[in-house]
Amino acid sequence: TAREFKTYLKNVITMVESEKDYLCELDRKIGDGDHGITMSIGFQAVRENLDHELAEETDCSKISISVGKTFLNAVGSSVGPLYATGFMRGAKQIKKKEVLNDQDVIAFWIAFGNGVKERGRAEIGDKTMVDTFAPFVDALEANGKGAEDLSTIFREAVTKAEEGMHSTKKLISKKGRSSRLGDRSIGAQDPGATSAYFLLVTFLALIED
Ligand code: ADP
Ligand code: MG
Ligand code: MG
Repeated sequence: TAREFKTYLKNVITMVESEKDYLCELDRKIGDGDHGITMSIGFQAVRENLDHELAEETDCSKISISVGKTFLNAVGSSVGPLYATGFMRGAKQIKKKEVLNDQDVIAFWIAFGNGVKERGRAEIGDKTMVDTFAPFVDALEANGKGAEDLSTIFREAVTKAEEGMHSTKKLISKKGRSSRLGDRSIGAQDPGATSAYFLLVTFLALIED
C-alpha cells in the first residue's frame, strides 16, 4: 500500500543516516568522500516531502515521481540523476495504484534498476551501482513469474545484489569520478554499489516483516 511505501522510504532515511559515515569512508578511498553526505541530503529532502506534500498522497506512482524529483533537485552529485531516474522509471510501472501486488513490486524494481543502468550508461564490471542492480534485475526477471512468494523471489535477488556489490572490490573503475584512478581503484568497494545494496536490503526487510 501507499502507506507501506512511505514506511519503506522512512526506513531508507533511517538507514542512510546510520550508514552515512561508512558511505563517505568508501568514497574517500576512490572518490571525493561525499557519497554518504549526498545520500543524506537527498533523503532528508525526501523526508520533508513525505511530511508535507506527500502526507495525504495515496497514489504510489505519484509518491515515487515526487521522490525522484525531490532527490534530483536536492542532490548535486552523480547519484542525483541516477536514483531519480530509478524512482521515475519505477513510477511508470505502478501508475494510479494505491495498492501494489507482487507483480507490480517486481515490475517497479526491474524498471528502477534498468533506469539507473540506462541513465548512467554503465555496464556490469564498470565498478558502479550497476554491478549491484544488474544481477538483481536479472534474478527478478528469471524468477519473478514463478510460483514462489515475493519475499523468496526478492531475497534471492538481493543475494545477487550483495554478490554484485562485493564484486566491485576487485574491479577497475570505468565510470564516474573514480575512473580517473584507473588501476588504483582496485581493492576498494564502490560506494554507489553499496548504497544501492542498502536500498534493496531495506526493502527486503520491510516485505519480510
Ligand atoms: P560524485 O562522484 O559526484 O561525488 P557520489 O559520490 O554521490 O557522486 O556517487 C558516486 C557513485 O555514483 C559511484 O560510487 C558509482 O556507483 C555511481 N556512479 C557514478 N557514475 C556512474 C554511472 N555513469 N553509472 C552508474 N553509476 C555511477
Ligand atoms: Mg562522491
Ligand atoms: Mg561529489
